[in-house]
Amino acid sequence: MKVLKFGGTSVGSAKNINNVIDILTAYSKKDAIICVVSAVGGITDKLLLAGKQAQNKDTRFKETFHTIKDIHLNIINELNPSYTDDIIAYVETRLDELKNLLDGIYLINELSPKTSDKLVSFGELLSSYIISETMKHRSLSVDRKNAQELIITNSNFTKAEVDYNITNKNIRDYFKTVAQQITILPGFVSKSLVGEQTTLGRGGSDFTAAIVAAALKVEQLEIWTDVSGMYTTNPKLVKQAYPIKKISYQEAMELSHFGAKVLYPPTVQPVLDLEIPIHIKNTLEPEAAGTIISNDAVNVTSPVKGISNIGHIALLTLEGSGMVGIPGFSKRLFETLSQEKINVILITQASSEHSICLGIEEKDAHEAKKAIDAVFENEIALNKINPIIVETNLSIIALVGDNMKNHQGISGKMFSTLGKNNINIRAIAQGASEKNISAVISEKDVKKALNTLHEQFFEIETKQLNVFITGVGNVGEKLVDQIEQQSTYLKENLKINLRVAGLSNSRTMIFNENGIDLKNWKDQLASGEKATLEGFFENTKSLNLRNSIFVDVTANKDVANLYADYLRQSIGVVACNKIACSSDYENYSLLKRLSLKYNAPYLFETNVGAGLPIIDTLNNLIASGDKVTSIQAVLSGSLNFVFNNFNDTTKFYDVVKQAAAEGYTEPDPRIDLSGVDVARKILILARESGIQMNLEDISNIPFLSESGLKSDSVDDFYQTLIADEGHYQALYASANAKNSQLKYVAQLNNGKANVGLQEIPEGHPFYNLEGKDNIVMFYTQRYPEQPMIIKGAGAGAEVTASGLFADIIRIGNN
Ligand code: ADP
Ligand code: ASP
Ligand code: MG
Repeated sequence: MKVLKFGGTSVGSAKNINNVIDILTAYSKKDAIICVVSAVGGITDKLLLAGKQAQNKDTRFKETFHTIKDIHLNIINELNPSYTDDIIAYVETRLDELKNLLDGIYLINELSPKTSDKLVSFGELLSSYIISETMKHRSLSVDRKNAQELIITNSNFTKAEVDYNITNKNIRDYFKTVAQQITILPGFVSKSLVGEQTTLGRGGSDFTAAIVAAALKVEQLEIWTDVSGMYTTNPKLVKQAYPIKKISYQEAMELSHFGAKVLYPPTVQPVLDLEIPIHIKNTLEPEAAGTIISNDAVNVTSPVKGISNIGHIALLTLEGSGMVGIPGFSKRLFETLSQEKINVILITQASSEHSICLGIEEKDAHEAKKAIDAVFENEIALNKINPIIVETNLSIIALVGDNMKNHQGISGKMFSTLGKNNINIRAIAQGASEKNISAVISEKDVKKALNTLHEQFFEIETKQLNVFITGVGNVGEKLVDQIEQQSTYLKENLKINLRVAGLSNSRTMIFNENGIDLKNWKDQLASGEKATLEGFFENTKSLNLRNSIFVDVTANKDVANLYADYLRQSIGVVACNKIACSSDYENYSLLKRLSLKYNAPYLFETNVGAGLPIIDTLNNLIASGDKVTSIQAVLSGSLNFVFNNFNDTTKFYDVVKQAAAEGYTEPDPRIDLSGVDVARKILILARESGIQMNLEDISNIPFLSESGLKSDSVDDFYQTLIADEGHYQALYASANAKNSQLKYVAQLNNGKANVGLQEIPEGHPFYNLEGKDNIVMFYTQRYPEQPMIIKGAGAGAEVTASGLFADIIRIGNN
C-alpha cells in the first residue's frame, strides 16, 4: 500500500485534477493506494478571509463566499461535463452550510479558533468529495473516507495535537476492511475527543498523509506538490536553486522548520522511527526525479544541504547588568513566553550573560513585550534590567546540513559572504549539533542573502556580476556591445555571469533585476523612465543585487559626487570619469577608505591611457614592494594626435578640429590643450604611487596663446586658434630646427610633478610615438635604469570601453 498526498496547486484546477487522476489510475493498477488531498489551491486563505471579513462586519464576505462557490462549481463542470447534477446538489448543500456559518460569524461579530477550524475544514471536505465522485464517474474503484472520523486530537484549535493511540487504531481498523483500490482522504481536518472539528495547522495535509502512512506502516509516502522536490533553497526566490536528490530526515525537518514550506514541519515525525521514506514529487512534471527523504542520504557532495528562511520575525532583547551571574532570569523569561503560548524560534545569549536575544513570530511581539515587561516589572523599576527591546521587519536565514560539523569555516564563509554584500546580521545562532547555522537579517535583504549564499555554497562554479551603467554615449555603447558579445565566453571560460541590470543616459533610465535583454537595449532605454542621478542610485540600491557595480561612463562632476554613496552600500564603482580621482586629496582618500571599509572595489584604469594597463601595473609594482622614483610619460592621446599631424603644411585649427571630430578630445578641447587633462592623469599616477598631491601642486607651463587661454567659450577658443596660427607655427619651427618632435610630456620626479610641451630629440623613446598613442615609463627601485614601459593607443571609444570591461572582470575574478 502507498500513501500519496496532493497539495493545493495539484488540485487547484480541473486540468491539474485530471493529472492527479491519471497518476492515481496508473498507481492503482499495481497496488492499493490512499490519496490525501488538500483544499483547492487558495481556498483555505479565502475561507479565512471571508471569516475575518464577517467578523469585522465587512459585507464583502459575501463576495468572497461567491468566489469560493464559483471556483468549486467551475471545477466540477469542467471535470464532469455530462453528469454534474448529483455532485452539484451535494456541494451546494455544503456551501449553504458554509454560508450559514459565515452569516453567524457576521451576526455575532466573532471568529473563535474553534469556529475558524470549522470554517477552514470546508476546503478539504469539498475537494476530497469532488475528486472522489469524479473518479467514480470514471469507473475507478474509489471511495472517500472523512479523515475527521479517523484522526482524533485534543482541542487545541487551529493546531491540534494528535492522540496517536486512538488515531492509529481507527486508521488500522478502517483500512483492514476496505474493498476499494483507491481511498480519498481530506487532509488537514480532524476531530477532537468530544467531536469538535479541529485542524492540524496550516499546511497540515502533509501531516495527515504521514500519520496515515505511519499507522499502516506503508513502504513509501509521496508528497505531490507544485515543484520538483525539496530545493537547495526556495525556488521562488532563487532562480538557480535545484532539487536535492536525497536528504536525511533531520535535514528535511530542519529546512522545513526554518521555512521550506514544501514540507509541513511535523510531517517527518510519524514516519521517522519507522524509516518510511518520503518522496517529494511534482504533479505538474511527474517524470522529474524529485527528492527522497530517508536515512540513506549518504551521497553528500556539499556539507550544506539547503538554505531556508522564515519571514515576519521579531527580535526581543533583554539586557541589563542585573542579569549577570543571577540564575533564574532565562527560566522566568521562557516560562512567560510559554504561558502566552508564544513559540521561540531562535535564542542567543552572550557569554557575559548580559543580554538574551530571542527570535519570535512578529505577530506575537506585542503580547510578548507586554507579558515580559510585566513579569520583570520590579527589576526594571530598580534599573537592574531594561524594558525589553523589540525589533521587527526581520527574517531568519539558515544553512542546514548534517555534515557541516565535519567541515571547518562554514559559518565564517556564511558571515563573510553576507558582510561583503552589505547585509547586516542582527543575531546568530548555531545549534550544538551544528546541523543548522542561522542568522537574523533585515526582511529587505532576504532575497539578496539567499542568492549570495546559494551562489557561495551551491554554484561556486559561477559568479554573478550586476552592472549599472550610467552614460551610454560613445564609450558606453561600445561597452554594452562588448558585454553582450562576451557574455557566453565569460560564462564558459571565467565562470562569470555578467549582467547589465541598469542603464541610463542623460534622458532616460531602465532597470531589470534579471538582467536587461541587450539585444534591443536602445529601444528599451528610449522608452525608460526619466533619468535622474539620485533616481539611478536609489533604484540600484533598492534592487539590492549581489556583486553590484556602478559604472560611470560620463565626465560629469555630479555623478562623481555620488561614488561615496554607492561605496557605502557596498556597490563597487568602475569609472572612466577622472573627476573624483583628481579632486581634492581628501575626497580621493575618502573613496579609497570607503572602498576598503565596505569591501567594494573602486577601479579607474581608464583614467590614464584609456585601455592600457597602466594603473593596474603600477598597483602591482607597489603591492609587491617596489617604489616609484620617477615617471616620464606622454599621456594625452589627443595632444599626441594634434602634434603628430601639425606641421608647416597644416593648420593648427584644422588639426584640432579633426581630433575633436574623431572623438580624441574631451567635448571641451581646452581641457586637453590647456594640459589640465594630462595634469589630472599624472596626479592620479602620483597618488597611486603613494604621494599625497593636489592638482595645484603640479606645475603646468601652457603652450596656448594668451588669447586661447583667456577664451571663455569653446567657439571663441576655436577662433583664437585661427587668429594665432603664427604662435603655433613658431612652436613647430623651433622644434623642427633642432630636428626634434613636439610632445606633451608629464613627469614625476622626487615627489614633484610637471606637465608641458617639450621638444623631444631624435633617439628618445618619445620621439617616434605615433598617432594617438600614449607611453609611460616607470623608473622604480627595481627598474632603475631601464624603465618599465607601457605603450599603445591611449584614446578612443573602443579601447576605453575595453579598459572599463577589464576593470569589471577584475572585480569578477576577485
Ligand atoms: P502544496 O500546496 O503542494 O502543499 P506548498 O505551497 O505548501 O505546496 O509548498 C510548495 C512551495 O514551497 C513551493 O511552491 C515553494 O514556493 C515553497 N518552497 C519554499 N522553500 C522551498 C524549498 N527549499 N524547496 C521547494 N519548495 C520550497
Ligand atoms: N489547506 C490547508 C492549508 O492551506 C492545508 C494544506 O494545504 O496542507 O493550509
Ligand atoms: Mg503545503
